[in-house]
Amino acid sequence: MRDDELVRRQRTMLAQCGAEKSYPGGRSVMPAVVRASTVLFKTLEEMEVARSRRMEEKVFTYGAKGNPTCFELEDLIAELEGGYRTRLFPTGLSAIAMVFTSYLQPGDHILIADCVYQPVRHLASKFCTQYGIKASFFDPTSGDLELKIKTRTRAIYVESPGSILYEVCDIPAIARFARAHGILLIADNTWGAGMLYSPLRLGADISIIAATKYLGGHADVMMGAVTTKEDAWQDLFTMCDTFGMNVSPDDAYLILRGMRTLSSRLSIHERNALGVAQYLSDEAEISHVSCPAMPDHPTHQLWKRDFKGTNGLVSFEFKRRDSVATAKFINSLKLFGIGASRGAFESLVTPCVMDKERSLSDWSARGDVIRLHIGLEDMGMLIEDLKAALIAYRRAR
Ligand SMILES: *Cc1c(COP(=O)(O)O)cnc(C)c1O
Repeated sequence: MRDDELVRRQRTMLAQCGAEKSYPGGRSVMPAVVRASTVLFKTLEEMEVARSRRMEEKVFTYGAKGNPTCFELEDLIAELEGGYRTRLFPTGLSAIAMVFTSYLQPGDHILIADCVYQPVRHLASKFCTQYGIKASFFDPTSGDLELKIKTRTRAIYVESPGSILYEVCDIPAIARFARAHGILLIADNTWGAGMLYSPLRLGADISIIAATKYLGGHADVMMGAVTTKEDAWQDLFTMCDTFGMNVSPDDAYLILRGMRTLSSRLSIHERNALGVAQYLSDEAEISHVSCPAMPDHPTHQLWKRDFKGTNGLVSFEFKRRDSVATAKFINSLKLFGIGASRGAFESLVTPCVMDKERSLSDWSARGDVIRLHIGLEDMGMLIEDLKAALIAYRRAR
């Protein structure tokens, strides 16, 4: 490029224009997407003051330390969860992994509910083993915590309701036990989505939400959020800064936008899921329908006591194991996508391998288990689709 007066001015202008924006008129309803690595200060003194405050407050000092769009989302989630502060992660799983990293040290023991989302088992077997942390499982419905804790138990990790079968854990009781023994209580609150359930208000210290699911709600963005009580905050915050953990403001914006309709979407998921659960319970081929809002669910009373509603998740168990007929059922569904995840607007179906999902209960003599996520489609049409797939199932048997 020629290096004349114009090019020199252009080069400088391109590097400096638009650094300070103010618009005549009003402001937008939604927060700005602030993409930033470098953050500028007017003076050296201003930078030093901002840096000195950033351990205690949300101040914008460098992209890796958070940015205004992410701060808006953190505040919103902290408010929903009833926590002190929230930190964001690129996925729900990375949020869980960062919680393990922040609170556990070599020699510590973590007690994990047997009903957790399966990748937590990999953290227990791979990460914990590699770093000399002991991990063991407990049955969240049996109340045998006293027998399971060890002298170095640092944390209890629950997911309530549990994955696939939706066993509700008695978080207030577990929290009293944990507090009495100086143990941290960590809860995965993805199912509750910050609205249906409040682990922190019920006594947990740390609550994790895979925002990928109901918060985002549109199957187009991944994120995890960890919210803690004030006492538990510093360990997480320090480790996140040490590891440079942050999310893109574009992703934070998508979650914020999804959350505008969280409450209305949850109401429709609930109505549709209850209709489908009711329909499935009347079908002869099905032995169990799992939805904690159904009166015959084993932990329905706890759900009634601690929850504000149910979401779109319904699982069921066929009376028999028959992989050919079950595959026929899944492949015959027209309105249910075959795929992992949940929490977005669409209905999904996934087969569950229960022998891998639980280590304390024996599934060898049980039937095939299917998990449905009931979306925002018309309930009657979803039920018709399930009816037709059950006819195909019967023919394949
Ligand atoms: C999906 C999910 C996660 C992990 O979230 P990702 O964003 O998919 O990594 C964690 N816990 C539960 C209960 C989930 O459903």
